[in-house]
Amino acid sequence: MARPKVLATRPLFPAAQQILNASCEVDYWTQPERISKEELFRRIADKEGLVCLLTEKVNEELLAAAPKLRIAANVAVGYDNITVADCTKRAVAATNTPGVLDETTADFAWTLLMAVARRLSEGEALARSGEWKGWDLDQLVGADVWGKTLGLVGLGRIGRAMARRAAGFQMKVVYYDAVRAPLDIERGYHAEYRDLNALLSEADFVSLHVPLLPETRGLLNAKTFSQMKPTSFLINTARGQVVDEAALVEALESKKIAGAALDVYEKEPLINPGLKRPNVVLAPHIASGSLETRTKMSCMAAENVVALFKGRRPPNILNPEVLKAS
Ligand code: NAP
Repeated sequence: MARPKVLATRPLFPAAQQILNASCEVDYWTQPERISKEELFRRIADKEGLVCLLTEKVNEELLAAAPKLRIAANVAVGYDNITVADCTKRAVAATNTPGVLDETTADFAWTLLMAVARRLSEGEALARSGEWKGWDLDQLVGADVWGKTLGLVGLGRIGRAMARRAAGFQMKVVYYDAVRAPLDIERGYHAEYRDLNALLSEADFVSLHVPLLPETRGLLNAKTFSQMKPTSFLINTARGQVVDEAALVEALESKKIAGAALDVYEKEPLINPGLKRPNVVLAPHIASGSLETRTKMSCMAAENVVALFKGRRPPNILNPEVLKAS
């Protein structure tokens, strides 16, 4: 029997290739530059499966160019690049990679939090510059992390992994979420619920862990920044569009907040020049980027594809109704 044809927009990792190659005929995009839209549309035309990244938009336009497509497997937990309703309309399964990246992403959010509080980027620049004159009492003094209040916006998988880390730093944890967590979860994570305004006015560190949705787009904006403490820091490893970047620049300029540490941006890979300031730590969207975790994410996407073609339910399906329809 002919093996299903799959397009992977990156070579993935060897373990994931092994899973895919065992049952599919896979066209890997191996060029160093990202696949262009034209090339993507050309190659997808005869494919039944797609393994894609969050930089590729899976919407009606792409689906119209992929009449044979049965599954789009995102190598990411966030799937704001996929219009799931469009996939469902065309009976295309959509999948993501939840769970395997929680600890790695929280590790990195914590790295950013520590770096901005303790002015690591400025310190490293000074250490490398040849200008450092030695220890001094008031040199690059930062803010303590231990014992402070961490405000988690979103107490899902990654938010909870942050709460676990906060315990080791003797921090108070407050959180805001669309739905308040059950009491046993709040107790287990020592996390107290606040509405967003109360969280912003109380937290020393505000860390974002919500998906990008119409309701979370611009959740942090001019109004909400004005509620934050002038000594507080914003950490964003969620999605750039959750923050109104122009309002963030204004909040930094007018010292409404003390600093920010960012992994994600409104118009990636463009970074608003107003963010390139000493009290902002900038990372190029690498929060889930450990070799172990990126391998697991790739394998998970591969397993979703293989499951569908073997007639099983893809473990991470976002629109299970397409299975019932077929
Ligand atoms: P998750 O487990 O689904 O957690 C998200 C939390 O946000 C849930 O508790 C959810 O509540 C809550 N939420 C949804 N809509 C909300 C709203 N309007 N207001 C307040 N809270 C809301 O997701 P996760 O695995 O922790 O991942 C969170 C996000 O992080 C992903 O969607 C992705 O965009 C981002 N991420 C980025 C990186 C990176 O490389 N920078 C890596 C991994 C993930 P409900 O469950 O009730 O909907």
